[in-house]
Amino acid sequence: MDLFCISQSSLANGPIRRLWRSDDPSAVLGKLPIFLAWVELEVEVDPDIQAGIWAHGNIRAAGEAECRRCLIPNDVKLETGFDACFRLKSEVGEIEEGVWIYDPMISHIDLSKALREEIWLGASEYVECSPQCLGLCSGCGALLDTEGCTCAPPEGDPRWAALRKVKG
Ligand SMILES: [Zn+2]
Ligand SMILES: [Zn+2]
Repeated sequence: MDLFCISQSSLANGPIRRLWRSDDPSAVLGKLPIFLAWVELEVEVDPDIQAGIWAHGNIRAAGEAECRRCLIPNDVKLETGFDACFRLKSEVGEIEEGVWIYDPMISHIDLSKALREEIWLGASEYVECSPQCLGLCSGCGALLDTEGCTCAPPEGDPRWAALRKVKG
C-alpha cells in the first residue's frame, strides 16, 4: 500500500491507526517549504458515515531550513498536529479549512495533500532563524548579527531603525 494512503475497505470495521515514515518526503509530497530528511505521520482514521472520514494524529519531521534573511542553514525539528476531514463532493458546499474531497469510486483515501498542507503551515516559522535576525548587509554582505559592518544605514528607512539602534 502506498505511503499516506488508506484503503476504503480497511475502514469497514471502524477506526484504524497507521504510522508511516518517508525518508524522501519531497518525492511523495512534492515541493516543501524547507528541506526535510524524513517525515512521520501517526494517524487515526475514523469513518463516520454521517460527517465524513476523520483523520487526526501527529506529524514529526526533521530537516534543515535556510534563514531567508541571513541565509544560514539551521537544523529543524518539526512537530505538529494533523487534522483532516474527507467528505464526498456532494456533501461539501463551500471550501472549508481542513476539509478534503474524496472519491468513493477510488479504492483509497490519499492523506498526502492534507499532510503537505500541515507541513507548509507548521514549517513557515522556520523560514527565519529568529524573529530578531538582522540578516545580511545589502551594502557589504556582512552578517549583521555577528560581523562588523561599516556601511552607513540609509536614513529614513524604517527597516534600518533597529540596526541604527544597535550601532548606537
Ligand atoms: Zn537568520
Ligand atoms: Zn555593510
